[in-house]
Amino acid sequence: MPEGDAVWRTARRLHRALAGEVLLGSDLRVPALALTDLAGRTTLEVVPRGKHLLHRLEGGLTLHSHLRMDGSWRVLRAEGSPPRGPGTRRHTVRALLWTGGQLAVGDQLGMLDLVETVHEDRLVGHLGPDLLDRAFNRELALANLVRDPHIPIAEALLDQRNLAGIGTIYASEPLFEHGVDPWTPVGQLDHDVLGAVVDTARLWMVRSCRVGLTAGRASGTPMPADGWLPRRYRVFGRDGRPCRRCGTPIQQGTVGAAPRARELRYCPVCQKS
Ligand SMILES: [Zn+2]
Repeated sequence: MPEGDAVWRTARRLHRALAGEVLLGSDLRVPALALTDLAGRTTLEVVPRGKHLLHRLEGGLTLHSHLRMDGSWRVLRAEGSPPRGPGTRRHTVRALLWTGGQLAVGDQLGMLDLVETVHEDRLVGHLGPDLLDRAFNRELALANLVRDPHIPIAEALLDQRNLAGIGTIYASEPLFEHGVDPWTPVGQLDHDVLGAVVDTARLWMVRSCRVGLTAGRASGTPMPADGWLPRRYRVFGRDGRPCRRCGTPIQQGTVGAAPRARELRYCPVCQKS
């Protein structure tokens, strides 16, 4: 599943292609929006909010999307109106938006809604502080994380109501970095260690957004090409392979209950807290 940094980059790509441009047309392939036509509206901006995308349009409308597991937005050259390229015909395409020169294709989107911009909170108001927000409210995020002190730290990190943007990569890797057992009840964790885990997740996500990127192997989430982050994942995607610190096979485990259960990777020796 794309995490906050991948969604941030998607928003930037869409913003650069569409902001300030008039839409010549739209094709929204979900039942509730099948008759909606956004032609004639100018894109004001496309911004991320946690793992959600908010495409704000002239006239006070916001097209909201979420990538869920496999969703993506691609920007292609628009050929004709309506566009007819092969990328437009896949049965998994949920949205086409086009200007005179650019075509945005939303494929396998997990959510697609149109709301009045003043009512965006109905869709994203439940989210905790956004790790990629310049004004990230760290104290509120930390307070949210320990609201239920009995749940495992990994589950608390993945709950978007506590803080927004973390998926299994940015839960697994910082917990390994700080030697924290993912199943530690969050209330039992030292406050400074909890703060350090959040700071590391944020630092790595911010840097992933800023620096040049190489294609990643997992989840479509690329890793930065420079030395700010570990160049390779240390636990994520490494089931059964030796821990880079101690050699113990990396294990896979589940946090949370269905349908929100998520798979994490960890080192059973390095992460004892
Ligand atoms: Zn280890």
